[in-house]
Amino acid sequence: MVLRKVLFRLMIAIYCVWLGLSGCGTQSQGIRNPDPTAIIMQSDNRCIDPARTYSIRIDRRFSHDRQQAMIETIPAMEQIGLRLRLVETGMPDVYVRLWRNYNPLSFTMGLYTYPYTYVYIDPARVLTRTQLQRVFAHEVAHRFGLQHVCRVPYEGKEPCSPVGFGEGVMNPFIQMYEPVQFTPLDLQELRRVGLCSSGFVRTR
Ligand SMILES: [Zn+2]
Repeated sequence: MVLRKVLFRLMIAIYCVWLGLSGCGTQSQGIRNPDPTAIIMQSDNRCIDPARTYSIRIDRRFSHDRQQAMIETIPAMEQIGLRLRLVETGMPDVYVRLWRNYNPLSFTMGLYTYPYTYVYIDPARVLTRTQLQRVFAHEVAHRFGLQHVCRVPYEGKEPCSPVGFGEGVMNPFIQMYEPVQFTPLDLQELRRVGLCSSGFVRTR
């Protein structure tokens, strides 16, 4: 049974790579963060409060064009009620860090480890500007609680959200040419886990 599951996942991974999609690895608590300094930047919450503006910082080690591509995606995050304000310094609510995935057997382009405020993107693994924008939106949404919306069961290494199967920014394998557009399934996932309950109290 376990072998069947592994083989099924491998087939999906091969299919997704054939389609030109590449993966996101979300890690759960307990797995080591690639950057030990991130330990001081644990997030105080994972939900989105639409009444609040969250600060975002983008690593200066990304090329100017890549930084620009991510900055251009910030307004699209309002589709999930996430208002972001770009900051240059300090400890933001979400910090997009440059990262290198040196594992040749891994398809991972982006990474988020609960409960940190850092998200990681490997620019060398991202194939198009649009894909970078989708990885950005996907990882930032993870930071605020959204989990994977799968196209098919067992897509990706992490559990699929129970909202159903279909296309979404939160698909574990990330498209190359589709601009960032959160789908009804993404929004269902947002309502399931990502939206702060009414009366949410800001803790800092
Ligand atoms: Zn992901």
